Amino acid sequence: MLKTSGLLLIAAVALISCAAIPSNRLNIADEKTLPKPALEIIADGVWIHKSYKNIEPWGPILSQGLVVKTDAGVFLVDTAWNDDHTEKLLALIKAETGELPGAAIVTHAHQDKMGGMQALHDAGMQTWAYEPTNKDAVGRNLVPAQGWFLNTFAGGSSDFKIDDVARGEHIKTGLIKFIPGPGHTRDNIVVYYEPAKILFGGCLIRPGGSSNLGNTADADIANWANAVRNVADEFPDAEIIIPSHGPMGGRELYDHTIALADAANE
Ligand SMILES: [Zn+2]
Repeated sequence: MLKTSGLLLIAAVALISCAAIPSNRLNIADEKTLPKPALEIIADGVWIHKSYKNIEPWGPILSQGLVVKTDAGVFLVDTAWNDDHTEKLLALIKAETGELPGAAIVTHAHQDKMGGMQALHDAGMQTWAYEPTNKDAVGRNLVPAQGWFLNTFAGGSSDFKIDDVARGEHIKTGLIKFIPGPGHTRDNIVVYYEPAKILFGGCLIRPGGSSNLGNTADADIANWANAVRNVADEFPDAEIIIPSHGPMGGRELYDHTIALADAANE
């Protein structure tokens, strides 16, 4: 069922993208001034990827995603901010791991997480997102993922599997996805890599130095703390917690984010 819908969407997106591809390229000024995308190794076979976008009045804003090399291949969590930087990121990943990622999963429908989707498709990668992420991407000038998954594991995490089209079956990537409920956005998900006890929290989890929830334009502030508690409960063994917009930390980032959400609710 899931596989069929995913493959049908691949065909549909191929048709749509011939008609209109949202352009997500860097202007020349940004090309010159922004820090280049980078990879930071944090564990055996695990990297954080970093890219930047100028947002006035703050200047370059860091966004992070994850790269893992597993028995099943190399996989990407989230794109860089745009197609240019995502292309550079893919080149870095290939140099570092010896191969291009086979597939990517993105954690919600904002530019920092999926602004480089077209670059992944141009590279021949398979891309996946939670169903409402693909729906919301369209209204936000973002390219949807080719495949989607539904929230059929209410209250539970599930393997991130990709389609082996040639063999007509699903294969496990080694990553686990979890839909914690609305927080930063209605569609935010988190991804766990059990071998390294690493939880990629995306924009749902705030970095330690942050004094507010960040971008709340599409947030569900009333449920945010709840969503973080769901993540904490689902992965009791997670030790390293990675937010989108700042340094990784431990489980204290959960408490920090919950406190920020509670303060925003007062
Ligand atoms: Zn976001």
